Amino acid sequence: MEESQLSRSIELNSGTQMPVLGLGTWKSSHWPRPSIQSAVQAAIAAGYRHIDTAYSYGNEEEIGKALRSMTQQGIIRRQDVFVVSKLWLTHHGPADIHVCLNKSLRDLQLDYLDLYLIHFPVGLKKTGDDLFPQRDGEMLTSDVDYVDVWRGMEALQASGKVRNIGVSNFNILQLERLLTLCTVTPAVNQVELHPYLTQTALVEFCKSKNIALTAYSPFGSPERPPQLVRADSDPVKLLEDPVVADVARKHQRSPAQVLLRYHVQQGVAVIPKSDKSHHLLENTKVFDFSLSEEDLRELRGLERGWRAHTLQQLRSHPFYPFE
Ligand code: NDP
Repeated sequence: MEESQLSRSIELNSGTQMPVLGLGTWKSSHWPRPSIQSAVQAAIAAGYRHIDTAYSYGNEEEIGKALRSMTQQGIIRRQDVFVVSKLWLTHHGPADIHVCLNKSLRDLQLDYLDLYLIHFPVGLKKTGDDLFPQRDGEMLTSDVDYVDVWRGMEALQASGKVRNIGVSNFNILQLERLLTLCTVTPAVNQVELHPYLTQTALVEFCKSKNIALTAYSPFGSPERPPQLVRADSDPVKLLEDPVVADVARKHQRSPAQVLLRYHVQQGVAVIPKSDKSHHLLENTKVFDFSLSEEDLRELRGLERGWRAHTLQQLRSHPFYPFE
């Protein structure tokens, strides 16, 4: 039962099926590494068939071990799991795109990815292994055009090492530019989405162009590291919001389940992060109840343009997407 429900999928513009519920794996550096492997194994055992990771999360080796272990035990075959990774900002240069992908493939112990995303439209200069190169407190941005990065992604797809290509954190103007200048339409735009940030125009635009959406930080990323928390602008925490709590009570569900159902019901994939087995399980139980139109209206009514992830340090770059 769990398996078939968790296999519910969204058809990408390539015809590939992407499971609508995935496991998020980003976590600040204090996440003890062995627990990543056990969390991914527990998620797969619970039926998750979509794993979201990225070069920058620094955990692809552990995820690779988890995938390998689950395939060796015969619990999954490679083709049963949809694996997503992302090209980091320091690797936007034409030669670096391959380097970044090859590192992810090696660490994940895979010979192809189901989906590869440009993590962010702004590039950073490559200085060693530094993820956020800076000088005098300023981020060292590059001027590589994301259109050229996309052409590199098209070449990766043609090589067979990635089955689908997409973007993350792109706005409407940036997507329009890609659609005008490039050959392949992005399969997915992965963006922050939840009732505090509904991004209705972007969602409508993507749907109209057959670009699927994945919602990241569906709970508002409550454990993001302190440097990303803006005390002055943080509203009531999403998981504790009284409106979400009311809807949850009405359906005898948890706030987390309501926040996940909100996306699933609107045809948007969602990738909650958890490394607790009771949360992993709880988050799978979102296919056996429905929110009413009134519930959805109330949840959308919480919109306040609030983002957990702003990457404000890149704000002055012309490709910064969140203005
Ligand atoms: P989420 O909004 O998914 O929140 C994760 C937090 O919610 C954790 O503290 C987790 O704790 C807690 N949680 C999970 N399930 C429950 C539950 N049922 N009840 C109560 N609390 C719960 O945060 P993320 O920012 O991690 O976003 C999810 C994923 O999206 C990331 O992991 C990453 O894969 C992706 N992402 C992509 C970005 C991009 O730029 N493309 C940016 C940010 C995220 P616990 O582990 O203890 O269960």
